[in-house]
Amino acid sequence: MKPLPLIDGTNGARLPIKPPIGQPCNGCGWCCASEPCGIAREFIGADDEGPCPALEWDGARFGCGMIVQPLVYLAQAAGLHGAADAPPGEADAQIGRQIAEALGAGRGCDADDP
Ligand code: SF4
Ligand code: SF4
Repeated sequence: MKPLPLIDGTNGARLPIKPPIGQPCNGCGWCCASEPCGIAREFIGADDEGPCPALEWDGARFGCGMIVQPLVYLAQAAGLHGAADAPPGEADAQIGRQIAEALGAGRGCDADDP
């Protein structure tokens, strides 16, 4: 797999390596760094090129910001940047659960092996 220098500048030195398709997701971020998903393209203005603007790094693994705090990214896409200051609330949780279901989160790596 190619490193993800655009994300952390370490050429993959401290990033998890993508597991084979079908194995548990380890948060390597390869999928969302390579090609934003349909939700990112439809709702937050992502184009064909990665990384997705909602890809978040928590110091150990990448995660989907549209699951954790979707209102922040939806507001940013709408030009409402002040909304990013608000902590995630119940509305984020409800929308995030629906997005997680739509994405198939928790069902293992679904990204083709590079
Ligand atoms: S789905 Fe696969 S490529 Fe995407 S973050 Fe998880 S392990 Fe990495
Ligand atoms: S919206 Fe989430 S799952 Fe989709 S590409 Fe962005 S970070 Fe990945």
